[in-house]
Amino acid sequence: MPANPRELFRLVTLVADNVLLSDDQAKKQILEKNAGSDAREIILIGDRIFRIVLDRLSQLVGENVNSKSIAIVPLVYTYSHQGAYSKNLLFGLLYWLFSGSDEEVQTKKIALSANRGRFESVLSACKADITAIASRKGGGFKSTKDIAGVISQIVEKLTRGGDLTTEQAIENVINELSLKPVPPHITFGRTASPKQRSQINISSLLERAPICPICKGYINLESGKQYDHHFERFAEVRRTSTDNMRPTHPFCNNMRDQINEVKGQASKLSIPSLPVAPQDVMSDKRQLLFVF
Ligand SMILES: [Zn+2]
Repeated sequence: MPANPRELFRLVTLVADNVLLSDDQAKKQILEKNAGSDAREIILIGDRIFRIVLDRLSQLVGENVNSKSIAIVPLVYTYSHQGAYSKNLLFGLLYWLFSGSDEEVQTKKIALSANRGRFESVLSACKADITAIASRKGGGFKSTKDIAGVISQIVEKLTRGGDLTTEQAIENVINELSLKPVPPHITFGRTASPKQRSQINISSLLERAPICPICKGYINLESGKQYDHHFERFAEVRRTSTDNMRPTHPFCNNMRDQINEVKGQASKLSIPSLPVAPQDVMSDKRQLLFVF
């Protein structure tokens, strides 16, 4: 997570109310809003903002007990293929996932979870191309929107993919969206460069990483997992046996039926789209939330 106060400010406004701060003027407007409020009002609004932020971030990288957590593995979602932290990937993911109401967020999490293994394969293969959007546009809110748009399209296409094999589905998405898988990184020295070593290390780690049996996505066994009665439901057998348990993402464990309903068919699930107009201008109602 960004330690820079400016980045923290951007992160909070994005996560709390899905607002992308486009420039210094937009930041200034928010900072000046409600400057005359009394201390009690400021504390109450601040408390509300951080409740939303903490709840949403814990849905993304939450602890084991948070049943709403999809518990992403940051190495897959917010780091480049060579292990560099990517602010643009993080912000794009946050913007895509948390646009809209709680119900819409839930629907997107189900759609992602129904296709998560395939989604992570596409992302891992084409991450460099997806993040190149950011460098072409110079970073900032335009890149965030574009990366969110790519994430949205990948999930949408995978959800409509029907009974394609995993390989076909991944290939289709890459072709239809004209994404470019990262080619092998070749140099002509005898030893691997730091970037090459980092890329090789990440590939090796992911090859051995545990997989959630429900969504087929990577799972971190240190945090962000629950144990699912995998073969026999607890309600049916009334017992817990190590032979029957598998570690899963908390959200997958709690939404297993809804996720399975979307899997393996050309789903008609209506996935909420991103806001059409850039939310770089805030309504008065939204501005009331911010009193920094
Ligand atoms: Zn899962």
